[in-house]
Amino acid sequence: MSATPSATTVDVLPSHVCDQWRAGRADAGTPVLHDAVTGVPVARVSADGIDLAAAVDHAREVGGPALRAMTFTDRAAVLRRLFKAVIAAKGELYDLSARAGATPDDAWFDVDGGIGAMASYASRGGRKLPDTTVWVDHDLVRVSRDDTFHAVQALVPLPGVAVHVNAFNFPVWGLLEKLAPTLLAGVPAIVKPAPQAAFVAVRAFRALVEAEALPPGTIQLVTGGAVDLLAHLDHRDVVAFTGSSATARRLASHPAVLERNVRFNAETDSINAVVLGPEVMPDSALFDDFLDEVVAECRAKAGQRCTAIRRVLVPSDRLDVVTERLADRFTALVVGDPRRDDVDLGPLVDRTQGEAVRAAITRLSDAATVVTGPDPAELRGVDGDPGTFVAPTLLRADDPRAPVLHDVEAFGPVATLLGYDGPVDAADLVARGGGGLVASVFAPPTSDTADLVRAIAPHHGRVLVVDETSMAAQTGHGSPLPRLHHGGPGRAGGGSELGGLEGLHHYLQRVSIQGSPDLLTAVTGRWASGAARHEGTHPFRKHFDELEVGDSVVAGPRHVTREDIDAFADLTGDHFYAHTDEDAAARNPLFGGIVAHGYFLLSAAAGLFVAPEEGPVLANTGLDGLRFMKPIRPGDEITVTLTCMAKALRPGEAHGEVRWAAEITDGEGELAAVYQLLTVVAA
Ligand code: NAP
Repeated sequence: MSATPSATTVDVLPSHVCDQWRAGRADAGTPVLHDAVTGVPVARVSADGIDLAAAVDHAREVGGPALRAMTFTDRAAVLRRLFKAVIAAKGELYDLSARAGATPDDAWFDVDGGIGAMASYASRGGRKLPDTTVWVDHDLVRVSRDDTFHAVQALVPLPGVAVHVNAFNFPVWGLLEKLAPTLLAGVPAIVKPAPQAAFVAVRAFRALVEAEALPPGTIQLVTGGAVDLLAHLDHRDVVAFTGSSATARRLASHPAVLERNVRFNAETDSINAVVLGPEVMPDSALFDDFLDEVVAECRAKAGQRCTAIRRVLVPSDRLDVVTERLADRFTALVVGDPRRDDVDLGPLVDRTQGEAVRAAITRLSDAATVVTGPDPAELRGVDGDPGTFVAPTLLRADDPRAPVLHDVEAFGPVATLLGYDGPVDAADLVARGGGGLVASVFAPPTSDTADLVRAIAPHHGRVLVVDETSMAAQTGHGSPLPRLHHGGPGRAGGGSELGGLEGLHHYLQRVSIQGSPDLLTAVTGRWASGAARHEGTHPFRKHFDELEVGDSVVAGPRHVTREDIDAFADLTGDHFYAHTDEDAAARNPLFGGIVAHGYFLLSAAAGLFVAPEEGPVLANTGLDGLRFMKPIRPGDEITVTLTCMAKALRPGEAHGEVRWAAEITDGEGELAAVYQLLTVVAA
């Protein structure tokens, strides 16, 4: 028979610093983490004795250079290996999540949500980012007319370390959604999980380390209080914080952050609102969907989500019916052991959180009447400490303008109903939250709804609008999607995360690099107009590995005749007057006569530059940046120059993507069309 673990026998959760697992020193005062259901000790947390200065140096001196030597494409491939390693650990992560109070649905949000976020970055990074170490995300800025001096807007990895300070409620999602853009950007990270569910975060981190996909020094973990960590940072570094606004304020005003200009991105709490539109009547499908959403938000993670609905705004004349129906649904939710199939809500993460939520309900009840909760009528499958359990709690505001309702975050299964009178009043009440992560509106797509959305949009990072046509497909009030911006102004921290590849920008320095086209090509690995071209073997005869940026073919000239234009019109059915009707074309102020179809020029150019025999070029996948610059008339001639501009070999594929700069010029050497041609070339 195994002995029940005691506070002094449970292990100290390890940190992973300088590529070694090490436990901090423990003594009688070391914080103990308990199973949220049974109250049994699970682990202790301490970072005492962990050399945080050495961790920062190690990241800067070992991890950073290794990551910066890899291309964005290489790093995307690493992310793919990392999230697969977390998938392999899912079973254990779900079990551990239950010890932190999570039902399987809650664990799905956290674990699968985190894996999904990292997978999204692996995929988009692999497809959209360059296979180079410098990211040029804008067109060349042409400065000189003679192509001898230009500029690029480039993005390069920060030379320091990213310190991730995470909140307790998403130990896996928080870990992965921050690591993905950081590592993809090429910056090493030190992760500091919140203590309460750190045993879940440590297991997920272990999966990342054991994947052996990352160079040394690129990820480190500090488990336990790390009050000293920020003191070692400077302008090369960045802090990405998630947690309460009070902690954010404290950390953002740390002397090192202020005096050494450390970048600081904060994701904090938010008194999120949902609005039931004035047109939505009881018993309509949208009314029921709105009720379902409020219930789902209260239930998920037992309301411990930064995006959870805290304020429920309904037209005053529907306050009674909404109160009644929500009260029925809230009281029907079963609270208990999160491992049981017949339980809807588990406990809060620990006793302290339970006490904090009850205290917040007491504060809210200064201005609102408690309709349901906070004591569970039944605790299913639990005979331990009930202090971690809070029943779904619905309050109804006495005065919807009372400041406490817009200020106090009860970080648990708690929502307050507020009545409003008209859309202007609704927008005013929503804005009283002082800046939020997300607001939802359940209303038909009318101009009044559009006005309401425009009024609340500046106060939020995300606005979700649901009508009857989108009910089935909508992704949920509380779910940040990796490709959408997550963050919010004011109280929500003023920061920003995710947003697809935008999310990398926190970890990159934007720099304008000015110089000759040859210099710009050498720095960025992307051919700049005016840089050296190499003609010789036709580039379409070269395999991916043989092709070099700057390889080029000049083809033509071809004389364009009226017969060509007529034949193209007949073949395609494009008899637009400017190509076929002399009188009408003459009246066209831009052309003043018959001109060739733009698409004819593209087709004729392809006819000039292709190498027709079977070869390494497999397909043409599209064009970017097409501009017709000068009309071509019957009798004119065209010449096309095609230059290999950039190459990217996607992980695990036998062929790469080649981007070509194409220029079509007329007989006088003036540009008639420019575009970038995208092809797939065998490796
Ligand atoms: P918290 O108490 O503010 O703590 C957040 C993190 O800050 C923890 O890791 C905490 O660890 C750390 N921390 C506190 N003082 C520190 C210091 N001096 N130096 C370094 N780290 C320090 O928040 P929480 O209770 O974990 O999370 C709940 C809150 O987070 C809620 O208010 C929720 O709304 C918000 N949240 C926001 C988002 C979002 O995306 N906007 C997401 C999730 C949660 P220690 O306790 O070990 O110091």
